[in-house]
Order: sequence, then C-alpha cells, then structure tokens
Amino acid sequence: MEKIKTFTLPKLPYEYDALVPYISEEQLKLHHVKHHQTYVNGANTAFEKIDKARQDNVDIDAKALLKDLSFNIGGHLLHSIFWENMAPPNKGGGGDPSGSIADVLNKEFGSYDRFKKEFTAAAKTVEGSGWAVLAMHPCIGRPLIMQIEKHNVNVYPTFNILMVLDVWEHAYYVDHKNDRPKFIDAFWNVLNWDRVNKNLDLVK
Ligand code: MN
Repeated sequence: MEKIKTFTLPKLPYEYDALVPYISEEQLKLHHVKHHQTYVNGANTAFEKIDKARQDNVDIDAKALLKDLSFNIGGHLLHSIFWENMAPPNKGGGGDPSGSIADVLNKEFGSYDRFKKEFTAAAKTVEGSGWAVLAMHPCIGRPLIMQIEKHNVNVYPTFNILMVLDVWEHAYYVDHKNDRPKFIDAFWNVLNWDRVNKNLDLVK
C-alpha cells in the first residue's frame, strides 16, 4: 500500500501583500506561516502517535487523541478553503455575487444584502474562536449558515462548504486588535465569488 501522506502547508494563491488594504501583509503572513502551520504540524503529530501505538500494539488515549486529531485536521482544512475563497480586490475579490451562487442566495435569503447581514451576524457572534461558514447539502437543496466553534464544533455532517470566514482572533489581531466586526467588514472586499461558484458546482 502507498505510504500515507503527511499534511503540508499549502501555498497561498496570491502574494502576502495582495489583499492590502483589507488584510495587511504582516497579518496574512503570520496567519499562514505560524497559525495554519500549527494545525498542519498538530495533525501530523496526532497521526504519528496513532501509528506508533498501532505499531507497538498499545492503547491510544482515544478521547484526547481523537479530539486533537479532529481539531487539527479541521483547522488545516478550513484554512485551506479560506485562502482559496479570497482573492485580491483587483483580481476578482469583492463585489456582488454572480452566476449560480447569486441565484441560490437570492432564492434563500431574498437578496444579497440580507445574506450578507445574516452571515455577518453569524461571524460576529461565534462564541470564542471559530468560523462562519456557508454550506450546502445536496439532499436538502438549500444553503445553511454554520457557526463552527474552534475548528470542529457544531459541524453538520457531510455538508459541502461553499465559503468560510475565519473569526479566530489570530486572523485579525495585527490589523484590528480585538475588533472582530472591522475584520468582517474588510473580508467582503476580498471574497472570491468565482471560487464560491466552483464550490457550489461540486454540490450538484
Ligand atoms: Mn486562522
């Protein structure tokens, strides 16, 4: 059997200064190379512990280790989606949605403004560290806003993620200190609707 891959930090699809003035170079770089890397390392370490325990045929601390694995894989996957669902403002970031996602949002929320208001409220009120997520499930056929606490709490099973917004304080402390709403306002200017449409295509 092929050796199981280890997780690696994905490259950003733009330069660290590409989202200025909405996200500063220092903030984006720290977020990517320090914070995201921590979850990559954490997921690899958790798997190493599991593999070692199986090799040595000893018990694993199931409760602690599986929680740790879920947290770190969740962190890695959500960040990977987050980088991709942003784009520089002069290269497709921001503006109003178009294509299929515009239709889906209008049908569900009545208007883009109403969606934006609900998603913003979700992002503002995530308790502690976490994410605001727009998700869809083919069996339900309507989009849902999720509040994911940490990286793995309150997740709907098997939902496809269309877009995410990281509202951990580490996502904005350099730029806005603890002012989460300011960061949420800035985010809409770098949201990559093309990518959200591509994610939506995968649901059908
Ligand atoms: Mn983050």
